[in-house]
Amino acid sequence: MSRNLSSKLPDVGTTIYTVMSQLAADTGAINLGQGFPSFEPPQALTERISYHLNHGANQYAPMTGIPALREAIAEKTERLQQRQVDVDAEITVCTGATEGLFSAIQAVVHAGDEVIVLDPAYDSYEPAITLAGGITNHVSLLIADNGHDFGVDWQRLQDTISAKTRLIILNFPHNPTGAILSAADLEQLAGIVRDTDILLLSDEVYEHIVFDGEPHRSLLGHDELWERCLVIGSFGKTFHATGWKVGFCIAPAPLSAEFRKVHQFTTFAVSTPMQHGIADFLDGNPDFYANLPAFYQEKRDYFCRLLEGSRFRLMPAPSTFFQILDYGNISDANDLAVAKQWTREIGVASIPLSVFCETPFTGTRLRFCFAKDDATLEAAAERLSAL
Ligand code: PMP
Ligand code: GLN
Repeated sequence: MSRNLSSKLPDVGTTIYTVMSQLAADTGAINLGQGFPSFEPPQALTERISYHLNHGANQYAPMTGIPALREAIAEKTERLQQRQVDVDAEITVCTGATEGLFSAIQAVVHAGDEVIVLDPAYDSYEPAITLAGGITNHVSLLIADNGHDFGVDWQRLQDTISAKTRLIILNFPHNPTGAILSAADLEQLAGIVRDTDILLLSDEVYEHIVFDGEPHRSLLGHDELWERCLVIGSFGKTFHATGWKVGFCIAPAPLSAEFRKVHQFTTFAVSTPMQHGIADFLDGNPDFYANLPAFYQEKRDYFCRLLEGSRFRLMPAPSTFFQILDYGNISDANDLAVAKQWTREIGVASIPLSVFCETPFTGTRLRFCFAKDDATLEAAAERLSAL
């Protein structure tokens, strides 16, 4: 039987996150690879979730998400992005951003459609495009002359568009580079898609983790872009709870209707007590998001300070909880090999960037997760500084 099994995803193996986490576990290394915090969600939030677990919120939630949670998402969307969205028709709660991205891609990509992704690209996009019968076109981000900042190469993106281009997937704040969009970037994008039928899928899971006083420029905040956009968010990043897998999709009503056609058969509904607990917490703490930039900026700065005497080249990350370190002064070996070697030999796991690129261009750069307690960051930095 297995000899005749024709894989729908022949090129897909185990994700780099799983590979590096497994290697870290096997070798006892400090795991700064897969992105997950070493600290707990707010206690007031876990208390509300256990309250609902014990008070009857244990059957199916509505397919689109419970109203109170959709209202909380609408409230913050209006407050932070000045976008009024229809609670009933334009917000859908989904099983983490991963399901949101998958359902969005299945909903809009037809067989033979082309989809543009920006490399390094998050690993879940291309398999979803392939399963929809689409073709993925990769456009590399540009590295600035300072050797650190990543940005969109708008000319290359424009040149990659064809009559078959159906969708462009964006991910800002960007994992793994931390790049963010400027107001000028949004105008460039608007100019490129104007007078086309191209749709946009914006993965904004790090929307609340942007540093140095910069705002998060969501596609939701741009009148023209919003009309053709599905925006995906995740409470996993926001509440230090990557294991909960509760996310959401915000899109204009006609796009949300198509999204829901897939969502209802991918997962149907999302964990009920989780939704009630998060809704209660946001009702009492609507400003929770406001503290996240300072919280993570302090961690970023601490990690960077600890590495000051090291041989790594770095520029503090503009966003997310990932710091890129360039090891070019230490080795010129391939980044995947170096990440594995250092996990085994010095006991610090990281994520190589080249695995997210069709044409590797990121050189001697590794991604380190700094969503960790100080002792973990200190131990990791000590080992890295000894290199
Ligand atoms: N997109 C990006 C860019 C991510 O980094 C992640 C998770 N780290 C996801 C999507 C998936 O989010 P979730 O865990 O909510 O499915
Ligand atoms: N998105 C997480 C990261 O970037 C990992 C998610 C996963 O393991 N699939 O580290």
